[in-house]
Amino acid sequence: MFESMRPPETPAAVPAIGALASFLDLLPALDTTELGEGALIDVLAGAEATKNALSALQARAAVALDTVVRTRHAAEGIPREKAGAGIHTQVALARSESPHMGHRLVGMAKAVVNEMPHTHHALATGRLSEWRATLLVKETACLSVEQRRQVDEQLLADPRVLEGVGTRALVARARKLAYAVSPSAVVDRARRAVNDRRVSLRPAPDTMSILSGLLPVAQGVSVLKALTGEADRLVGIGDGRTRGQIMADTLVERLTGQAMAAAVPVAIQLVMTDRALFHGEGEPAFLPGYGVIPAQVARDLIRRAGGLRAHGTRTADSRAPGSDAGGTDDLPAPQQLAWIRRLYTAPETGDLVAMDSRARIFPAGLARFIETRDQCCRSPWCDAPVRHHDHVLGWAAGGKTTAANSAGLCADCNYSKEASGWRTETVPGDRHTTVITTPTGHHYRSQAPPLPGDTS
Ligand SMILES: [Zn+2]
Repeated sequence: MFESMRPPETPAAVPAIGALASFLDLLPALDTTELGEGALIDVLAGAEATKNALSALQARAAVALDTVVRTRHAAEGIPREKAGAGIHTQVALARSESPHMGHRLVGMAKAVVNEMPHTHHALATGRLSEWRATLLVKETACLSVEQRRQVDEQLLADPRVLEGVGTRALVARARKLAYAVSPSAVVDRARRAVNDRRVSLRPAPDTMSILSGLLPVAQGVSVLKALTGEADRLVGIGDGRTRGQIMADTLVERLTGQAMAAAVPVAIQLVMTDRALFHGEGEPAFLPGYGVIPAQVARDLIRRAGGLRAHGTRTADSRAPGSDAGGTDDLPAPQQLAWIRRLYTAPETGDLVAMDSRARIFPAGLARFIETRDQCCRSPWCDAPVRHHDHVLGWAAGGKTTAANSAGLCADCNYSKEASGWRTETVPGDRHTTVITTPTGHHYRSQAPPLPGDTS
C-alpha cells in the first residue's frame, strides 16, 4: 500500500550510507547451503549481534536527527512549544513503523544514547537486543537522569551479567535496582499509569470482535461487578440466556443505550457492492472499525435491523455525487430500529463516489465517506483511527473541500503534516493516492486501501 522513494539528492557518497548500502547488497548473496554446522551457528550468532549493533546505530542516528531538526527549527524562529514537531514521524517513516512507534523509538534512543552509556555499549557491541534495551528504558523511565545512570551502571557495568539471563529476569533486576534508588518514583509511576487507560476493538474469528478496556483496577472491578450483578438478577428470574450472554448483552445495551432486540448499533456503515447486497453474490463487505465480513453476514445484519433507511452514497458514476442510495425494495419496510449507512462501491473500480462541498469543514456525509475510504490514518504504517478529516492541500492555500483533496488522519499525523518543511499532495492512481514529502526530501506514497468490488 505504501512505498518510499529516496530523493535524488541523498548524498550516497557519505561513507556510512555507502557502507550500509553495500552491506545490504551483499547479504542476499551469502550462500548458507555450503556451510558446515559450526559456521552456520557462527552466522546465526554474528547476524544477531549485527542486528543489535545496527539498532544502536539507528538510536544514535535518531538522536542526531533530533538535534539537527531542533537546530533548524530554532533558526526558522519556530516557537519553542512547536520545535521538534514531526521528528518521530520522520524516524517512523524511515523505519517503516507507525508514528506511535516512532515516539517510542525516539524516546528510547535519547534515553539509551544520552543517559544509559552501559546499555548503549551492550547494544552497540551486539550483546543486548533493541527490545531488551527498550525494556530497560521503560523500567527506569520514572527515575531522574542521575538515578537512571546509577541503575545503568549497577546493572550493566560488567556486560558479562547479560550472559544467559532471560528477558524477564533482566527486567526484574532493573526493576529491583530502580526501586532501590528511588522507591517513591516507582510508586508514583503506578499512579501515573492511570493515564494509559483506553478502550480498543480487535477482530476475533467467526465475525466476532474483542472489546478491551485497560482500566484502573477499581473501575475494572466495578464494571465486571455491574455486569455479573445484572446476570445474577436475570438468571434468578428465569432468563433463558447464559450468564456470559447476559453480561455481553448488558454491556452493549448500557453502552449504546439500545435494547439488544435492535441487534445493530445505532449507526454502522457497511460497504458492499450492489451485486453482493441484491444478487446474493459472495464478495465480502467491509465494516469500518472492524474490517472484512462475509457478504451473508452483512445481509443478515441489514435484515436483523428490521428495516433500513439507506443514508449513504452510491458510487456508480451514473449517480449524482452525494445522492442517497436507493434500492431497498427487497428489504422489509423501515421500522427504524437502526440505521445502516450503506456506502456502495462501484463494481468496476471499487472506488467510492467523489463528493464535494463549498464549506471549509467537511460535512458529515463527506467525513463518513473519507473514514470509509481510508479506513484508518492515511500516514504510511499508521494504524490509528481517523480523527481528522484533513485537506491534503490546505484550505488557506486554496485547497478544496472535496473527496479528492481529503485524507483521514490521526491527530498525531496531522500535527506532523503541518510541521515545517513537510508537504503532501495527491497524485493520480488507481485508488486515491497521496505522496508525503518530508523536510529531507524523502517521499512516501500512501494509497487508500482496496474496498469490496476492487479487483486490483
Ligand atoms: Zn497516523
